[in-house]
Amino acid sequence: MNEKVSTVHKFGGTSLAGVDEFRRVAGILAGAQGGPLAAVVSAPAGVTDALHALVHTAEQGGDWPAGLEAVAARCRELATGLLEGAARAEWLQALAREQSDLHDVLKATALIGRAPAEVYALVAGHGELWSARLLAAELRRRGVDADWFDARDALVVVDSELGPTVSWEPTRERFAASWTDPPAVRVITGYIARDPHGAPTTLGRNGSDFTASIFAALLDADEVIIWTDVDGVMSGDPRRIPDVAVIPELSWHEAMELAYFGAKVLHPRTMAPLVARAIPVWIRNTARPEAVGTRIGEVGEGGGVKGVTTIEGMALLNLEGAGLIGVPGTASRLFEALRNAGISVVLISQGSSEHSICCAVPRADALRARAAVAQAFAAEMRAGQVEGVELVHECSILAVVGEGMRGLPGVAAKLFGALGRSGVNVRAIAQGASERNISAVIPSEDADRALRAVHAAFYLSPQAVSIGVVGPGGVGTHLLDQLAGEIPRLASESRLDLRVRAIAGSTRMVLAPRAVALGAWRDALAAGVDTDLDAFTRHVQAEHLPHAVIIDCSGHPAVAARYADWLAQGIHVITPSKLAASGPLDDWRRLQETRRAAGVRYLGETTVGAGLPIIQTLRDLRQTGDEIIAIEGILSGTLAFLFNGYDGSRPFSAIVREARELGFTEPDPRDDLSGKDVARKLVILAREMGLEIELQQVAVESLVPTELEGASIDEFLDRYAGWDGEMLARLEAARERGHVLRHVARLDGASGRASVGLEEFPADHAFAHARLTDNIIQFVTRRYRDNPLVVQGPGAGPAVTAAGVFADLLRLSAYLGADV
Ligand code: ADP
Ligand code: ASP
Ligand code: MG
Repeated sequence: MNEKVSTVHKFGGTSLAGVDEFRRVAGILAGAQGGPLAAVVSAPAGVTDALHALVHTAEQGGDWPAGLEAVAARCRELATGLLEGAARAEWLQALAREQSDLHDVLKATALIGRAPAEVYALVAGHGELWSARLLAAELRRRGVDADWFDARDALVVVDSELGPTVSWEPTRERFAASWTDPPAVRVITGYIARDPHGAPTTLGRNGSDFTASIFAALLDADEVIIWTDVDGVMSGDPRRIPDVAVIPELSWHEAMELAYFGAKVLHPRTMAPLVARAIPVWIRNTARPEAVGTRIGEVGEGGGVKGVTTIEGMALLNLEGAGLIGVPGTASRLFEALRNAGISVVLISQGSSEHSICCAVPRADALRARAAVAQAFAAEMRAGQVEGVELVHECSILAVVGEGMRGLPGVAAKLFGALGRSGVNVRAIAQGASERNISAVIPSEDADRALRAVHAAFYLSPQAVSIGVVGPGGVGTHLLDQLAGEIPRLASESRLDLRVRAIAGSTRMVLAPRAVALGAWRDALAAGVDTDLDAFTRHVQAEHLPHAVIIDCSGHPAVAARYADWLAQGIHVITPSKLAASGPLDDWRRLQETRRAAGVRYLGETTVGAGLPIIQTLRDLRQTGDEIIAIEGILSGTLAFLFNGYDGSRPFSAIVREARELGFTEPDPRDDLSGKDVARKLVILAREMGLEIELQQVAVESLVPTELEGASIDEFLDRYAGWDGEMLARLEAARERGHVLRHVARLDGASGRASVGLEEFPADHAFAHARLTDNIIQFVTRRYRDNPLVVQGPGAGPAVTAAGVFADLLRLSAYLGADV
């Protein structure tokens, strides 16, 4: 007794396109473990098409001999590339014999001017004979015990309305008689079979998958592996939707629905013989055998929508009229008319008003369908009860498929929402009672856009976010470098696909179709084009990516002025810049309204306290129902540094100069000393609390003498020493009381009064202990009244600010559904 064949492999034409591909396939089979194998093969890519075309050319009286020679030459090339010596000679001899047979057949065809289906099948089936023999010979060349098997010796199929159907009884008998002494690898011809009279026939285009599943049933195999040129069944057609993802697991039903709705990767009929025996199928990539692929078989519940696909080439037929209302049998008459005309109906939809009933039919049959229905309802049309039969050409059916849709509310809403937002007009809708698919009839011209929008809406791809960064200065540079380090980890751990697709400096920008290679973003930017923020915006908001965000690290008013436009267009905005949030109240309110209407996010955690969680803490307090009584703190890292270091031993102006040299101040230290920057932060916090406050309402004590406001930076630094005495006097006065000087911001929750200025604190006060550039902020709330909530830590510096911006980006991603 022979050992049982446990695995049936199938290699598609794309996997056998050339010499290298054949070698790769032979390598996979030679390396496969376990018992004897069966490998079903298609013709080398394009050969079936070429052979079909030959018969047609012969029928038309064209130059078929040249075509035949071309196909044969291609196969000879394959054999010469792979085989040597006797094996090669033997193979070429067989080819020559068959070429001469085909020559005779085609010559007869040309004489008659017409070829019956058997001739087409006979000629077109040669591709599989050639590839099976070639692969077997290549395996033997490698020392593998292999032979090839002509599937026509076993397979008997009859043509039916549903396409070729296996006649199991004769097939089993013939199989038992012909499948003897299988070697380690038996290569089987895909696609070809015989009819009950013994005439050659085929299993239809792409029929080799079917061959594989029939043989798996005959051999009672444990699994089928379909090797092709993609990593598995994708959540959509990879040629039409960018960023599709491999679906790891599909149920039989899901696979069938996807295949029915045009996901070409698996032939719909393929599954039937396997379902009955619960033989799982794997779809795997010949070129990447290390990829796991898709498993189709019994799977658990859940999973939601798994794939999106379309059937092209449809037309919609609509029967409408008041006379249809409440009349029983209308639908059955309609479908009977279509059935009698031999037209298959792909989708049916009837409104519950019964005023109209519509169905989708193949476009090629549309005119015949209309005639048939018009005839069936001729009497009603004459009587005016039926208005007519309307036909909409150029339709596609888009379907979302997934077992887990059952009982999952909101799937339809998401589907139609996505279609609506992308401006696709839905003409008819149908949902199978199984709830495994929802289908919509749409105009064909919108099909690609619809596929992408729906695919993204169901997050079938990893959560892809299109990112644009403006202003690669201090913070922006750190951010890009931090992203460069973390993006790969986020992709693998969180299925989050952050793509920095655009970077714009003040003069140059780079726009990358997929993503800028962040390891070398500086070079990419240097090699970029002139900055054009309109083009930048259009690029970031790519149609095929569901989410777009612009991160503005420029701190430039002209960029901040664009936030409203961006938000209105559905682009999220993240920024460490205080300009917008502390600008005129009306503008800020409008920005919020725009943001709300567009349903997007505006995140600016780093506008106060850099990377410290200050705004988020404030939000959490308020949203959990706490009441903010007061906020007070040291909100400027620069001013914190100045007063932490100022002990009177050196003049205050010298410390300012030193801080500037250390990079702790703005280029113009007056920007810090004036208190305006702190005032802006206070305004942001106040507005976050719901207070309607303008920047001018903050009482600011400036440490810049009025006389020096208009001076140049150097002049200011020189002359500021003139005020050292005044500052020293304040320090000493405080010291006498045992106090220290700190620059503090205060906000009163009830009155909304806000102030910024120099204050004295006892030496044991929390504010007296802040170190270096620490920010420290106290929230006095109803819950934290006696013992305020304190957030303290480094509140300035590009690295921590960039990390805070990054955290905002991750917060946004989480909101969008990523698992971070
Ligand atoms: P083979 O030659 O291996 O039989 P096919 O060309 O018949 O390959 O089928 C594989 C092709 O099907 C893929 O290259 C891919 O472009 C296309 N395809 C269409 N829809 C899907 C889908 N949902 N998932 C994977 N591939 C798909
Ligand atoms: N060679 C056949 C075709 O191209 C069968 C197949 O590839 O599955 O349709
Ligand atoms: Mg195929």
